[in-house]
Amino acid sequence: FFFSPAEFVKSATNLSMIPDNTMIPEVAFVGRSNIGKSSLINGLVNRNGLVKTSSKPGHTRMMNFFKLGDKLSLVDMPGYGWKSRDEWGGMIISYLQNRKNLKRIYILVDPSHGLKESDTQIMKLLDSSGLSYQVVLTKMDRLSKTKYSAAKAEIEAELVKGAICCFPLVLGVSSKTKDGLDELRAAIVKAGQL
Ligand code: GDP
Repeated sequence: FFFSPAEFVKSATNLSMIPDNTMIPEVAFVGRSNIGKSSLINGLVNRNGLVKTSSKPGHTRMMNFFKLGDKLSLVDMPGYGWKSRDEWGGMIISYLQNRKNLKRIYILVDPSHGLKESDTQIMKLLDSSGLSYQVVLTKMDRLSKTKYSAAKAEIEAELVKGAICCFPLVLGVSSKTKDGLDELRAAIVKAGQL
């Protein structure tokens, strides 16, 4: 299947650097730093080291674009901390609101920690712009099945209260055991109508 081979397209630090491959359906990944975003994207495309694992200085202020042939574009979004008021935040928001081929934003959440204010803030922003997002719980392997189910139920209960544009299916993944990756790939295919 076309989730591999994946290739790096470019890193963008401003709007003019964003690739204009708007014919290819695109999905973007956001989440707090250390949430497992790099590991997840590498796992999805089966290529260790495609996305450099975090904590590199400067890395947080880039959007990294990858593609799977001419079928799908994946975007590794910078960690949270951007606000609409600052220049960088304005750029991110402008990208999200104006990107015609952006089919879905995956919000990564650690089930051991639950939804944080930064997660609900971005959800509100996406809701106000009518942008479709879906919650993906990372590092599933760290919790027992019982604890994972309880954490997921709690998050789902919070989402039904107010997350308007949230796709009503919370997915779970482990980049370590590869659990849930096929389900996420299938969800991406469907979101992109590939
Ligand atoms: P990022 O900052 O969101 O890109 O997060 P990384 O992918 O760099 O992961 C942050 C840390 O969490 C690293 O130490 C990873 O090894 C660990 N990690 C990532 N995914 C998983 C997972 O599925 N299971 C477990 N147990 N650890 C994970």
